[in-house]
Parts: sequence; C-alpha cells; structure tokens
Amino acid sequence: MANFGHVYLIGAGPGDPGLLTLRGKDILEKADVVVYDRLVSQAILGMCNPKAKMVDVGKMPTHHKVKQSEINKLLVQFAKEYPQGVIARLKGGDPFVFGRGGEEALELVAAGVEFDVVPGITSAISVPAYAGIPVSHRGIATSFHIITGHEKAESNGELSLDFENLAKCPGTLIFLMGIANMDFIAKRLIECGKDPKTPLAFIEKGTTPYQRTVMATLETAGETIVRENVTAPAITIMGGVVELGKTLAWKKNLPLSGKRLVVTRAAKQASGISARLSALGAEVIETPMIETRTLECPLVMAQAHDSIGSAMPVCEQPVTALASHVIANPEGARQSRPADFSSLANFDILAFTSTNGVESFFKQLLASGRDIRILAGKKIASVGKITEKKLLEYGIRCDYVPEDHTGEGLGKLLAALNPIPQSTEGATSYPIPRILLLQGNLADDTLLNLLPQATRWVVYETLPVSELPDWKREAVENADAVVFASTSAVENYCSVILSGVRSTESKDLNRDSSTTPNGFAQNDNNACYPRKSFCIGRMTESAAKSHGFETVTSDETTMDSLVKKIVEFYTKNS
Ligand code: SAH
Repeated sequence: MANFGHVYLIGAGPGDPGLLTLRGKDILEKADVVVYDRLVSQAILGMCNPKAKMVDVGKMPTHHKVKQSEINKLLVQFAKEYPQGVIARLKGGDPFVFGRGGEEALELVAAGVEFDVVPGITSAISVPAYAGIPVSHRGIATSFHIITGHEKAESNGELSLDFENLAKCPGTLIFLMGIANMDFIAKRLIECGKDPKTPLAFIEKGTTPYQRTVMATLETAGETIVRENVTAPAITIMGGVVELGKTLAWKKNLPLSGKRLVVTRAAKQASGISARLSALGAEVIETPMIETRTLECPLVMAQAHDSIGSAMPVCEQPVTALASHVIANPEGARQSRPADFSSLANFDILAFTSTNGVESFFKQLLASGRDIRILAGKKIASVGKITEKKLLEYGIRCDYVPEDHTGEGLGKLLAALNPIPQSTEGATSYPIPRILLLQGNLADDTLLNLLPQATRWVVYETLPVSELPDWKREAVENADAVVFASTSAVENYCSVILSGVRSTESKDLNRDSSTTPNGFAQNDNNACYPRKSFCIGRMTESAAKSHGFETVTSDETTMDSLVKKIVEFYTKNS
C-alpha cells in the first residue's frame, strides 16, 4: 500500500455537539486536515486539533460551494500530501445518509487511499426525536422511510420520486432537503391518494439552540412554509407519529435559546462562563485570544553560565523580561543566546511546568539531532498530573510532583531536596542539585524565587492570536453579543477581531461610517461584528465603552452576577 494518509469519513451529527461520537471526537483531536461541510457546528470545529488545516468545502448557499467532484479529488490530494497523516472528512449527520460519503469512499478506493467510516447520528431520526416525535411507534407506524426531496431526474429535471408508491406507504415519511419542493411534493402525494389530513411537521435547525417545530397537514404544507417562513436546514416528517410531538415535545425553550454569544478566553474563568451560558440555551463561540509557539531552540540569557555550580547567579534580570524582550525585540535577540543541549550535562533535575513546555522541549531536543538518551540519569520534576502524563507519553516517569500541583508546591519540594552526595578524588561533597526549569516566556518568577540556584530556559512563547480561522470569524460576525470577563479580554478582542475595522485613526465603532443599519461594527471586508457587550463590573465596562461597545454591566464583579444580567437582559427584550 502506498504511503498515503488515512481518511476518516466522519459524521458530525445533526448540530448539538454532544451528539458527535466519541470516536469522531478522538479523530478530530488528532487530525492534520479537516475538510468540513456547512452544517457542521462551530462547537465541533472548535474540538479539532488547533493545528489542523481547516478546509471549508460547504460555504453558505449564496457563496461558491466546492463541487462534489472537487471534494473527492481534494481528499485524495490531502492523503498524498500528508503521508501517514490523519485526514478527517467531517459531514453533517451521517456520512452515508444523503451525505455523498459513498462517492468519496469510491474515489478513495480508486486512488488506493485507505479510509474508515465513522457513522454519525443522522438528522432524519434525531431531529424528530428532539421535537418529541418518535419515527416509529407501536400501533401507529411500523416503518419509516427517509427520502431526499431534492434529487432531480436527469431526463426531465423533475423530482425523481416515486409518488405513487410513496403515497401508498403506511410508514412515517421523512424528507431531507425538501423545503423548497415541499409544496409540490405534498400536492403530488395527495394526487396519488395520500390523505390530505396526514399530520406533518417541519423541524428547522433541529438539536441546535435555534430549533423550531412548525405543525401542519399535508394539504396545508405549502402555505405553512410561506406563512411561517420555514427555512433550511429543516426536515419534514409526515404520518401519525407527528401527533405524538404535541405531547412529547421535551426540549424546553431556555432563557438564552437562539442567542449566539462570543466569550473571549483571556481570563481563565471564561470557560466556566461558557458552560453556564450553554446550559441556559445560548450558542457560545469561544475565541481564545492567545496562542503558544515553540521557539526554534530554547533561549538562555547571554550572562547565564550553563556550567554552573551551586551558587551561581543564574539571571541578572528576570527571565520573563528576557523572553518578552528577546522575542519582541530583535535588538534584544543579540543579547540572549540559544541554549546548547550539550549543557544539559550540567543539570541534575529538569523541571517542567506545563504540557507546552514538555512538547516544546522535546521538539527542540529532536531538532538538535539528539534524543532522550541525553536525559539518562537525570531526575525529572513536574508541576502536576497533566504535565506528568504528558512526560509519560515521551517515555519518562517523574521523580518529583508536588501534592498541591502548584508552582509554589514544586518550588518548595525541590528546595527541600537533600544535597546529592558526590565523590571526587576520594572526597565526598554535597553540591545543591542543579535545576533546569523549562518554561514559557510568560512564566512568573515563583520557581526562580524559591530556587535561586536554578536556570531557566524559555522553550515556548505565548502570543496574542494574530489571525482567527475563517469559520470562527464568521461565527463571531453572526453573534448577538460579546461577553467580556475582564478588561484584558476587551483589549485582546479588539486587537484581534476588530483589527480590520474601517477607521484606523479611531477605534470608535459608533462612527456612522463604520456601522451598518443593524448597528454592527463593520470592517474593511464588510464583515459585521456585534456591538452589544455584557461586561463584568465597571472597569470592564469602561474598557468596552472606550472601544465603542454598547454595554450591559453586571451589578457585582462575579460570574453569577454577569450570567444573571445576561438572562435578565434577554428575558426583558425577547
Ligand atoms: N447526512 C445528513 C443529511 C445531509 S442532507 C444526515 O444524516 O443528517 C442535508 C439535509 O439534512 C438538510 O437539507 C436537512 O433536510 C437535513 N438536516 C441536517 N441537519 C439538520 C438539522 N439540524 N435540522 C433539520 N434538518 C437537518
């Protein structure tokens, strides 16, 4: 078999991210490329390996959509471009239920590319379930049929449906992709003898916070679509089971149902607030504003001696200052120097304080042409369990992990270590263990303060996110409001999201020239961003105001108070 990447045809389910399979999630987390469709939810895209190449092949209906034949070719191309890579082909619902997964699989077989199918929960069954409609029910429907309402016959361009037989079919009929043709479909079914009073339901955007069920009968189908403005994606379900939906509709309208809120993740507590807003029905778009990057090689200060003994002053200025200076300023880069891996010989203990630190260090070690044998005989310390687990992935067990999993705990643990006896020329000496800290440029000085003899290598840097992936930018554009949990969140958000806003000399989004009639800020690409913001306390409020946001502010500076305020706002204004 040729050395190709492996393609996974994955079903993303109908919309609710909780309906993605565990296997699907597992593959997305390690994917090198994700080729995804329009109906895949933002939350699921957010689960993909952040380093994956994200390829959108299903733009909105008004935009250019990549043709199926091109998608087929693209999958083969990626399999070739990424030998041994993981290529995820992510589709709404189930890949083999009107998902054209079969066509893609045939192309892969023809090209000799190996693939797996990871089934998804199809909308055909799950969307009715979320509307309280069982597709089969004892005494009402003993079969159900899933039908495309879209496929045209090549001969005459008419819908290629066998209306005669469908009209006779006693089971539940479930139409996908049929809204535009439903008036015609309903009339033809009646003409062919189906009872005009057959109960029917349209379920729009099922399983998402925007789900809506509209009931009708076969004879009122067409007019109901127009009157209620039923829009895609929606399924149409016909048959006696629809009546059960009146009693079994279980999905409650929550206070924030139908609201899309952006939560910036500058503050640690932001993910807590995301979970709470989701539980209240909101669709939450989390936008992390920082990213980490492995440095080409570790950095040490020029003044630091690697071949240190116990009492060596490691840094004459704090390394945090060094790293940001070195990284931000090319002048500074000359003052620092790359660490030399051969100097690892001068350390007894290597201490890691994050998984990023572990990954970056080993990447750099391998890039230097060495491997883990250079660590033979060294003691390894980790700040906590997650970092410890990451080290285990590299085949390394930790010797020291503090019970409280904090930097302070690690510092105290290492500071209390007994001196290591060493024999030189018959005499035994007890030098203090020589410790190397492997950290990021924003690590604080807790460890260095507790371990003045330690050296720090900066192995990765933390930077503000400079670009958001297209799908995230689009999600933010269509949001109702932004939730700010700190002033730094406001600043980060504005520098990342609004960097292209029209007025360069003024960031004031209230300016007429930069706002659209619906009151959104607009950037050079005519993208619109929400102007409404929910702020935690007065300081955050004034930061948001200074950038031109409309603000609704929590009474107290707590998450509880902020969430309460958001619910209050939407309850009053709905
Ligand atoms: N493979 C998909 C179907 C793709 S065809 C599956 O198994 O679900 C696309 C059609 O599926 C849409 O036109 C719509 O009819 C239906 N659909 C998909 N997601 C939906 C949703 N969340 N709510 C309602 N209908 C949905």
